[in-house]
Amino acid sequence: MFLAAVAGAALLAMQTTAPIAAQSIEPIRYTLRFPAPHTHYVEVEVSYPTLRQPSIEIYMAVWTPGSYLIREYERHVEGVAASAGGQPVAVEKSRKNRWRITTGGAPSVTVRYRVYAREMTVRSNWVEAGFAMMNGAPTFLTLVEREARPHEVRLELPAGWKDSATALAPMTGTPHAYRAEDFDTLVDSPIVAGNPVTRTFTVDGKRHVLVLEGDPSLFDADRAATDVQKIVEAGRRAMGPLLYPHYYFINMVVDTGGGLEHKNSFLTMSGRFTTRTERSYLNWLSLVAHEYFHNWNVKRLRPIELGPFDYEAENYVKTLWVAEGFTDYYADVLVRRAGLSTLGEYLDTLSDQIEAVQIRPGRLVTSVDAASYDTWIKQYRADENTPNITIDYYPKGAVIAFLLDARIRKASGGTKTLDDAMQAALQRYGGAKGYTPQQFYQVMAEVSGADLKGFFARAVESAEELEYTEALDYYGLRFRPVDPRTARAFLGALTRPQDGRLVVTGVRRGTPAYDAGLNTDDEIVAIDGVRIRADGLGARLEQYRPGDRVQVLVARRDKLTPIEVTLGSDAGRPWRLELRPDATAAQKASIAKWLGQ
Ligand SMILES: [Zn+2]
Repeated sequence: MFLAAVAGAALLAMQTTAPIAAQSIEPIRYTLRFPAPHTHYVEVEVSYPTLRQPSIEIYMAVWTPGSYLIREYERHVEGVAASAGGQPVAVEKSRKNRWRITTGGAPSVTVRYRVYAREMTVRSNWVEAGFAMMNGAPTFLTLVEREARPHEVRLELPAGWKDSATALAPMTGTPHAYRAEDFDTLVDSPIVAGNPVTRTFTVDGKRHVLVLEGDPSLFDADRAATDVQKIVEAGRRAMGPLLYPHYYFINMVVDTGGGLEHKNSFLTMSGRFTTRTERSYLNWLSLVAHEYFHNWNVKRLRPIELGPFDYEAENYVKTLWVAEGFTDYYADVLVRRAGLSTLGEYLDTLSDQIEAVQIRPGRLVTSVDAASYDTWIKQYRADENTPNITIDYYPKGAVIAFLLDARIRKASGGTKTLDDAMQAALQRYGGAKGYTPQQFYQVMAEVSGADLKGFFARAVESAEELEYTEALDYYGLRFRPVDPRTARAFLGALTRPQDGRLVVTGVRRGTPAYDAGLNTDDEIVAIDGVRIRADGLGARLEQYRPGDRVQVLVARRDKLTPIEVTLGSDAGRPWRLELRPDATAAQKASIAKWLGQ
């Protein structure tokens, strides 16, 4: 949006006789072909306008917005060749992800290349005999320029593929042809082709399409569409009018997971049995609500740094705890408000988020805004020590949203909520503006009527413990008491059976294993001289009491090494929420107002 505005202003300055629409800028035109889809290739033919320059430079994005890691998509590109006026012209690699093409003064050049498409994630491409899933960043080479140039895409489908689906605007008169007003929109609009199963429903006069591709034969499309509509309606009640022209819920039924948000669509992945068990279905509905809620939070109300995107480098941002964490909070809230989960199921998911924060040693090392900034090198490049040194901004952001929502409700005497504050933020900073951290704090404080400086300084900008008492008291909740008499012996090494061996996969700071010197990749062979089988650690620890001193025999790079460990105490799970038995009518009413009846 920002790029479009800049380009429009520049054009108006040059030529003021008539309003200039983006359509007057000559588009880049792509044709996608799948001559041998079983080999996982998409063949791309592109026509680029040259503006009569002697050469043009084209590039592929190296990352996808919403997934913060440099991924070098250009490694799957091969056979880049160009012609102008039917004659071959020179192509030269000018960076890892750029190509320079000699035009010979021609008004346009045609470029052909192939992309290997066999990575089943929501940010990459997959082509096989029966279908294709195409994302913009790893597919479309675009011009190196600041212009908000339209990009048009036409798909030639193999025989047997009947349909394509995308949130891009269809071009009239040509089947499977779409138009994006700029490159951002193209990157933001995944395309699937094959024989998708679709269901359509309408909310507020807007068309919503559930698209299932992969193997949806066991997926209950009717039930899913009915429940997704309830999530849309719950989202509309929380955030106000629907701001998209239409919305596509694209779910690949491919027995893997993940989700990525877009402005007018999302792309998720799920198992073929998703709708068959309540637990997996509820998880999927939560994923749906998360990616859908992003249409407001991050796609239209965004951190100021997330636009215009630099597709060739890291884009640093401190407020992913809002963009991801608040979205995660709302995901489960919306599922509950839509009547798709019980209060108990909701409290379980919130407890999971609190637990994920509270058992992680890194919460006391790195603030959540610093974790957001470093996501490119830590969250998306996690190793065995990552939990010790940094916090995950998804659950911590969700817990901050929970605490902030309660703070706003309490401070305003129950007249305002986080919904009101998010709507106010959307009105003030939505669209091309974006917010700074201070601006986000300010709008939250204004709506609550309270001074929230101390709240954000502690919860967001420090690595101090979060403070739960106020929120729990407001709703009449408590952490389920744990009985210290049932405490069990605790070692503290994370382990995994591997080729019949019990292997340490990580050691959390502050545990007996950490203090005694057990290391990642150690094989635990025996405790007190008695062999432990790959799946036997839990049962063996039940033979000991907290405080017992044991000898753990490990094989470290095959050398047997005895390690003395004083076992700690595992008092169970102290971070599980429940309604207090003595909760007042006012507290119960505040829960009903928060989560529905
Ligand atoms: Zn997200």
